[in-house]
Amino acid sequence: MKGLAMLRIGEIGWIEKDKPEIGSRDALVKPLALAPCTSDIHTVWEGAIGDRHNLILGHEALGVVDEVGSEVKDFKPGDRVIVPAITPDWDDEAAQRGFSSQTTGPLGGWKFSNFKDGVFGEYFHVNLADANLAHLPEGMSLEAAVMIPDMLSTGFMGAENSNIPMGGTVAVLGIGPVGLSAIAGAKLQGAGKIFAVGTRPKAIEVAKEYGATDIISYKEGPTDEQILEATDGKGVDAVIIAGGGPDIILDAVRTAKAGSIVSNINYFGSGETLPICREGWGFGMADKDFATGLCPGGRVRMERLADIVSYGRMDPGLMATHVFHGFDKIEEALLLMKEKPRDLIKPVVIIDENI
Ligand code: NAD
Ligand code: ZN
Repeated sequence: MKGLAMLRIGEIGWIEKDKPEIGSRDALVKPLALAPCTSDIHTVWEGAIGDRHNLILGHEALGVVDEVGSEVKDFKPGDRVIVPAITPDWDDEAAQRGFSSQTTGPLGGWKFSNFKDGVFGEYFHVNLADANLAHLPEGMSLEAAVMIPDMLSTGFMGAENSNIPMGGTVAVLGIGPVGLSAIAGAKLQGAGKIFAVGTRPKAIEVAKEYGATDIISYKEGPTDEQILEATDGKGVDAVIIAGGGPDIILDAVRTAKAGSIVSNINYFGSGETLPICREGWGFGMADKDFATGLCPGGRVRMERLADIVSYGRMDPGLMATHVFHGFDKIEEALLLMKEKPRDLIKPVVIIDENI
């Protein structure tokens, strides 16, 4: 079978590999719709998690089950499924403690395109199919559904981790697809005022649609100063970091009120350390906490997010600004994600509507 792979840091290409073999609780899946992630860009072009050789990329997919192991109960060949980006080992101790994305070690629930071939292949392997696949609801648009495995799960986690009080003020720094999902999540969590920090017109349009009440351009002055001014110096109840480089942490901490949480969902792709502002953090005593997290995976999470879409709580399809058709187009979509033209939020590849 063929797949689009990271050949080494800075280089991608199509390679041939054997079809994956499955164990008794696993599934073999064919892609139905795919999307590249900004994380693929950090991984390949920044070498953020170290070198990888001939590793098939991609972790955002909808699929059609091709084969299941003898112990799989709820899925059979031909089923259309949502495949979470994160596929934990549910019997691991970290999962039992409630941190399923960190099973077998830090970020260990992230298998696809990290240490196992990803979903940009003609077939891919899913471990623990009954726990890591969800049925794709009949009639759901593929452009919308393909945002569930990573964009919605990660963005909503950013809002969940930031402990937003009902009616509280939230700032979302970075409004790519992850930050936009965080805005929608913050609204669903009961936020009052929501500052969206970004500059791209298309993203701003979707940010407003998802619940942003105020737009701040980080190019027109320091973000922290603008938000502090707009809140009469008080700052915000929760900050979600969903873009930018290391210095964005300084904006976040300075903007946060006492008692707030700075919830990071950004993937910092380079550098040895990350900064903290001594004064903005009250010399270490300001009651400003941090939360971090890797996208939650697994079946229940996917089913709940699918319900958010099915019951019209938000429409993730608005983020699919560039839609391609055909498996071969995944390379073009990935390169578009790297280039990030101004009108791009998220490229999506529909393999075949009719399988
Ligand atoms: P994106 O690049 O589309 O969006 C981020 C935006 O932030 C860009 O438009 C960028 O121009 C903007 N930006 C840069 N500097 C800024 C600043 N100082 N203030 C405000 N905005 C600024 O990326 P995305 O696809 O939305 O992903 C966001 C991040 O989330 C990436 O680092 C990605 O790798 C990461 N991610 C993390 C998880 C996770 O599990 N935690 C999952 C998926 C993606
Ligand atoms: Zn991702």
